[in-house]
Amino acid sequence: MALMITDECINCDVCEPECPNDAISMGEAIYEIDPRKCTECVGHFDEPQCVQICPVACIPVDPAHVETRSVLWQKYERLTNPAGAAGQAAPLTEEAPPLAEAAPLAQG
Ligand code: SF4
Ligand code: SF4
Repeated sequence: MALMITDECINCDVCEPECPNDAISMGEAIYEIDPRKCTECVGHFDEPQCVQICPVACIPVDPAHVETRSVLWQKYERLTNPAGAAGQAAPLTEEAPPLAEAAPLAQG
């Protein structure tokens, strides 16, 4: 899922340089995250760097951009290898995403 910045943002400027995808930029009043670029840091780090560093915890998941981990990986590969060549981009920190992250099937 892409993340979003709420209006609790105090424009402290610390998250923007931490984003490996250049997804964070100053908007009209507060910082914003471009959902086309945010991979939740998948492919770069184990945890979202902006969330880690934000002093006011104003960066939740964006409910308008719910994405599975494998979709985030595809986005990461597009961003790091825009020429195409699917599957050739080497993951930096993680193995291929697990096939099933959904809740286990209900029994009985
Ligand atoms: S989660 Fe990662 S990719 Fe998304 S905006 Fe934050 S730092 Fe950038
Ligand atoms: S770290 Fe948090 S408070 Fe600071 S600019 Fe980024 S979103 Fe806003």
